[in-house]
Amino acid sequence: MSSLLRTPLWAQILVALFLAAVVGFLLGPQSPFGLADSAFSTQAIWLFDYVGDLFLQALKMIVVPLIVAAVITAVANMGQEHAFGRLGLKTIGFYLLTTFFSVLVGLIFVNVIHPGSVSPEVAEALRGQAMDAAELQERFSGTEGAAQNVWDIFKRMIPSNVIEAGGNNGALLAVIVFAILFGYFLGQAKESPGVTTLKNFWDGVYEVMLKITDFVMKFAPIGVFGLVAETMAQVNLSALTSLVSYFFTVLLSLAFHAFVTLPLLLILIARVKPSRHYQAMFPALLTAFSTSSSSATLPLTLESLQDRANVSKRVSNFTCPLGATINMDGTALYECVVVVFLAQVFGLELTLGQQVLVVMLSLLTSVGVAGVPSASLVAIVVILGAVGLPAEGIGIILVFDRILDMLRTAVNVFSDSCVAVIVARTEGEEEVLAKPVEG
Ligand code: ASP
Repeated sequence: MSSLLRTPLWAQILVALFLAAVVGFLLGPQSPFGLADSAFSTQAIWLFDYVGDLFLQALKMIVVPLIVAAVITAVANMGQEHAFGRLGLKTIGFYLLTTFFSVLVGLIFVNVIHPGSVSPEVAEALRGQAMDAAELQERFSGTEGAAQNVWDIFKRMIPSNVIEAGGNNGALLAVIVFAILFGYFLGQAKESPGVTTLKNFWDGVYEVMLKITDFVMKFAPIGVFGLVAETMAQVNLSALTSLVSYFFTVLLSLAFHAFVTLPLLLILIARVKPSRHYQAMFPALLTAFSTSSSSATLPLTLESLQDRANVSKRVSNFTCPLGATINMDGTALYECVVVVFLAQVFGLELTLGQQVLVVMLSLLTSVGVAGVPSASLVAIVVILGAVGLPAEGIGIILVFDRILDMLRTAVNVFSDSCVAVIVARTEGEEEVLAKPVEG
């Protein structure tokens, strides 16, 4: 038992993932033992779902206090060094750059592979899977943290009530904006016992939240098992036949971005070895994959960057909370691929102008998408409407949304971590990924 507990966390999670895939498969629609929909499988899936939710809730519980403490302390220190403007601009600049590259990758892959060119019968069958308008309305109105249009994103950045925003995991962007303002002016405030106490207070909150993270992560293998087994037991592979090229278009473009574009930026700008960075971020990537939530993964993203990649708290505590909410490369890429694919299925080839619009909207809406499971679906509904496609078409891609969500969330988190490394290195942090990663 004790040797099991000494196994690195990432290895425990990996084993849990593998077991979950096997168990989910044995209980799901493909079950070789015909267990699908049996009383046993229904109860087991209920239990997995319950355990997974407990873990996810525990991770989410950490997020608001951790983000507030991390951002306030990081920005207050930067304010004192007069580095806030430079770091802020650099971070947002790299976020926009990586997201723009990711959407381009998606656009190229979806145009080259053209997954929507299917036989007329298959196209007809796919169109039959579109949702009806009432279902669409019911599913997407009032979705947690969803921007209903592009202008909403900017409006949602300013909380009208900061306590209320802090109580809503979909409103993290508003919480971050408040924490940035608070931290900035804390850094500017004249030294006094009150100001010093406040700085020490937030430092202390941060340290305690990291300890709670470590504690919650001890349960990660069980939680991950529950989340993934439940998802796997729902996947119906027979749906893959008509959507196979769509599925692989998303998969290949996400893989290209994660294994070609981002590593190239790490080599060319940060001058670090990408292989070391993958290794450092492995625990966070596995958590992102299992939870489909960048926000819930944030505590792990910070720990992996600070303890394994040696990025300073000053850089990671500022860039990552912001990145988890506004830098979503995988999401932006996914939105773009889905919209162009649906246009192809409906036999409406988008003009160059419309494709440029899709690129812009994918980029902008990905900023406003909350880091929670399936959040990009709402953004896709917004974009479909903007380019004149029937929003009901989203029903076609729902079957694989969860699996692709796991993958795009891992890419979202990886991109946040790459930008943190790039910013840290351009700030002269020599020790970032300088040594092989331990564990
Ligand atoms: N699940 C994604 C995330 O948390 C958002 C999305 O694309 O749905 O990063």
